[in-house]
Amino acid sequence: MKKEINKYSYAILGAGRSGIGIAKLLKKIGADVFLSESLEISKLKYFDEKAFQDYEIPFETGGHSDKIYDYDVIIKSPGIPINNDIINKAVELNKKVVSEIEIAFLLCKAPVIAVTGTNGKTTTTVLTGEIFKNAGIDSKVCGNVGLAFSEIVDEVTEKSIVVLETSSFQLESTEMFKPKVSMLLNFTPDHVDWHGSLEDYFNAKLKINMNQSEDDAIIFNYDDEIIRGFSSKFKGNIIPFSVKENLEEKGYKFGCYVSENQIKYFGKNESSKIINTDEIFIRGNHNLQNSLAAVAAAKYMNVKDDVIKKTLINFKGVKHRIEPVRELNGVKYYNDSKATNFDSTYVAIESFKKNIVLIMGGKKGANNFDLIKDFVEERVKYIIAIGQTKNDIKDYFSKFKEVLVEETLESAVNKAYALSESGDVVLFSPAYKSFDMFDNFEQRGEEFKKFVNNLNPKK
Ligand code: ADP
Repeated sequence: MKKEINKYSYAILGAGRSGIGIAKLLKKIGADVFLSESLEISKLKYFDEKAFQDYEIPFETGGHSDKIYDYDVIIKSPGIPINNDIINKAVELNKKVVSEIEIAFLLCKAPVIAVTGTNGKTTTTVLTGEIFKNAGIDSKVCGNVGLAFSEIVDEVTEKSIVVLETSSFQLESTEMFKPKVSMLLNFTPDHVDWHGSLEDYFNAKLKINMNQSEDDAIIFNYDDEIIRGFSSKFKGNIIPFSVKENLEEKGYKFGCYVSENQIKYFGKNESSKIINTDEIFIRGNHNLQNSLAAVAAAKYMNVKDDVIKKTLINFKGVKHRIEPVRELNGVKYYNDSKATNFDSTYVAIESFKKNIVLIMGGKKGANNFDLIKDFVEERVKYIIAIGQTKNDIKDYFSKFKEVLVEETLESAVNKAYALSESGDVVLFSPAYKSFDMFDNFEQRGEEFKKFVNNLNPKK
């Protein structure tokens, strides 16, 4: 199919960034395309009707008509479940159903580094892209991080590197997708409802490695037992990473691990110390794992050690993920608005040893208090609770911690300011979704930062 992509006709389901991007890309190379969207046009964020008319791409909005079955290939947006009626019918009619990354990949001249996992994808993708950029390589970061893969395919050459964040929803509808380097960060059963079973979810993620061959590499988290359990089946060069184990002693040809506070990498005929872990800017054990994965990819692609080291010292992380906001009166403020569940709040608290003033709470959801209980006891001075779950938080934690309930994020910030003293950390890590008070976690994080930046030094 690769050479004849423009010989097929395509119905693209979903007018999000990736649907729009792939429609334009396919049209440019002369393919017959049709875009179909279930939502009304007024609800679409990225769709520009006029641009589509100018491109002469036919489209429909407000529902998928049977016209989609007139096309050879269905390109499914990641938001549409694979077992949906429309997709089932397409399969019955012998249509090929693929995701945007499949087609973008087939049209892409540059090698692809593909990142997947339950958590840490965005951070690892952006960090890896940053290392390549600092190495003077024309690198493009895309996927769930802003740009869609299809939006940058035209801009890259054989000499570029594409770092692509991929979700299991995109991977499950691929057939020929073959990254030069794949990364499997971790696997926790977050999306099981969607994929039906744990095995389906893992198998979807494993598709990242399905076509890889001896020149390619798969970087995986050795400390994740589920992933390690599957690793004997991996194809290509196998590069485990570990924050705990000396992998050189485990008989691997390649690996990246932490020992004596150093990140070490070994490969064919080499073994190098990259950086002291204390020098890495992004905090926490989870970010150390993300850093190991990025180092392994960069080393495999022959980036020099000093470039990798400098990037790890300077990379400030991605917005809303333990993002440093400001230091005021000796108190450090961090925005971790992306923490929409307790796993994320856990890794955030884990990143600070003590003296935490924790602001948390949000839209009603799982109250997984037990997970963070011990950490809260040891490391948190006060909890300031907001949002729909503020009283649940108070009921649970007030048995052993002082919990203050506030009506707004602004008053929570003011309370944290009043309570904190030099050496403390004010950590906004909500543990719940944002939709009780905000449009999304980004808006929630921006508001937090605004309130923090409005604070004045104490007299
Ligand atoms: P994703 O793109 O997979 O959602 P992000 O890089 O945006 O990942 O990080 C989202 C949240 O996941 C972070 O705020 C942090 O709480 C948590 N996280 C990040 N990296 C890891 C990791 N390696 N292991 C566990 N949790 C992580």
